[in-house]
Amino acid sequence: MNLSDPQTIRSILSRHGFSFSKGLGQNFLIDPSVCPRMAEACGADKGVGVLEIGPGIGVLTKELCSRAQKVTAVELDHRLLPVLSETLSDFSNLHVMEGDILKLDLPELLKTEFPGLKIEVCANLPYYITSPVIMGLLEADLPIDALTVMVQKEAAERLCALPGTRACGSVSAAVWFYSEPEILFPVKRDCFLPSPKVDSTVIQLRIRSKPLIDVPSQKAFFRTVHACFSQRRKTVLNSLSAGLSLPKEKTRQALFEAKILENRRAEQLSMDEFAALTRALSKGDFI
Ligand code: SAM
Repeated sequence: MNLSDPQTIRSILSRHGFSFSKGLGQNFLIDPSVCPRMAEACGADKGVGVLEIGPGIGVLTKELCSRAQKVTAVELDHRLLPVLSETLSDFSNLHVMEGDILKLDLPELLKTEFPGLKIEVCANLPYYITSPVIMGLLEADLPIDALTVMVQKEAAERLCALPGTRACGSVSAAVWFYSEPEILFPVKRDCFLPSPKVDSTVIQLRIRSKPLIDVPSQKAFFRTVHACFSQRRKTVLNSLSAGLSLPKEKTRQALFEAKILENRRAEQLSMDEFAALTRALSKGDFI
C-alpha cells in the first residue's frame, strides 16, 4: 500500500469515514522522499526503540518500523486507530497507543515500552503543540538520545537559533541548555495533504548528557531568561527589572556583577552571560 499516494490516502480515509481535523494539525505527508530521510536521520535501527508522536495514517511509522527494533506510536485521534490497524498490519514490532502525548507519564511509558533499547523520538509534530511537546520532552530528563522532528519553518529557526543571535528567544536558550540542535532539511507545504499555509523543517535535538552551562538552579536560570526576553525590544536593564519586578538599582548591581552592559538586548546575550546573570541574581538573593 503506497501511503504517500493522495488517491490511496483518500480512498482509505473515506472507507473509514474519516475527515481531516485542522484543530489536531492533521496534515499528512505525501512526498515519498521525506519519511525515509527522517527515519534514517533519527537512527532507527536494530537495538533502537522509537517513540513516534501522531502517526496519522502511518506513512512515517512504516519507515520507522522497517528499520527499528520497536516503534511505539501515540495518536490522539481515536478515529485513526482502525486506519492504522489496516495500513500497518504487516509490522509485529509496532505498538499503537491512543493518547495525548502531553498527558502521558513519559518516564513510565519509556521504561515499559523500550527496556534495554536506545531511545529515539521521531515525529511530524502537530503545529499547535510544537513548543509544549519539545519543552516537555527536554525538561523531563528522559533517557532519550535525540528528538528528530518536523516543525513549522519559523519555529525551527527560533528553536535552533544560538542565543546571542537575532532569531533567538527564551525557547532557544532552553533548547541549547538541554540539547545540541541542528537544522536537517526543509519540507515544502505541497508535500502534505491537505497542504498547510506554511513550510516545514526537520530538526534534530541531540540531548546533552549534562546541561550546557552550570547554574545554581535551573528554575532560576529559566526565570532569568524569561525576564530578559519579556520585552525583547527594550534594554536588558528594563526587561529584567520589569520581568522580575526587581528595582532598577538591584538589577543594575546584578548586571554589573555579571559584566553585562545594561543597554544591551536579550537577543545579544550568550548562554554564558545568561548563566553569569543567573549566578549574580542568585548571589544577591534577587531571584
Ligand atoms: N505522522 C503523520 C504524517 O507525517 O503524515 C501525521 C502527522 S500530522 C502533522 C500530526 C498527527 O498528530 C495527527 O495524526 C494528529 O491526529 C496527531 N496529534 C495531534 N495532537 C496530538 C496529541 N496531543 N498527542 C498525540 N497525537 C496528536
